[in-house]
Amino acid sequence: MFTGVFENSMMWKAQKDSIVELSTINLRDFGLGPRKQVDDTPYGGGDGMLLMIEPLWNAVSKAKENDPTAKVLLMTPRGVRWKQALAQEYSETDHGYIFICGRYEGYDERILELVDQEVSVGDYVLTGGELPAMTIVDSIVRLIPGVLGGESSAAIESFSDGETLEFPQYTRPVEFNDLVVPEILLSGHHENIATWRKEKSVITKPKHQ
Ligand code: SAH
Repeated sequence: MFTGVFENSMMWKAQKDSIVELSTINLRDFGLGPRKQVDDTPYGGGDGMLLMIEPLWNAVSKAKENDPTAKVLLMTPRGVRWKQALAQEYSETDHGYIFICGRYEGYDERILELVDQEVSVGDYVLTGGELPAMTIVDSIVRLIPGVLGGESSAAIESFSDGETLEFPQYTRPVEFNDLVVPEILLSGHHENIATWRKEKSVITKPKHQ
């Protein structure tokens, strides 16, 4: 699942330029028995399967062996809600991160012994922790200096100060299907443009919702 995201665009560039190293561990490699089992039914009954503690523990231990100072993050809907300020904070640290991606109904709770932080990407349930992990990795890596082209582009983005959203932007042509670019942006008057952008940066309801 990770190759499409990690081998393209900014994630690809960041690795090519040796700014970050990204690698994945397949839990199945730590599976038990001839069938490489990684999941089992929950004690106490209930639907679905859980990731068993032993393969998960051994996989995380292997990741920690590879990167001993890395912090361990568990992807879970009950975790702290991911936001831009956390992405910024994580992008400024000099240690790595290990992402535990749950599957099925979840994981054996005892894995929390190895976890530094539980993280959620929002109040909805996904099939596995892979998309949350990729989302979080992407949001961190693009903030590391040297990854984005224009160094200032991350500083003026939505949420960078915790609340404002980016102002509307336009590029050529000036007119398309009777839709025109706001005249002020063509005026060349930097002060007025700055004021207009500031006005448009306040949090407003999206046009379509
Ligand atoms: N039964 C669980 C959901 C399991 S979903 C519950 O009701 O909370 C399977 C896995 O996907 C989870 O263990 C977690 O690792 C991941 N996941 C699902 N939604 C997520 C979210 N919003 N944020 C982070 N991880 C999530």
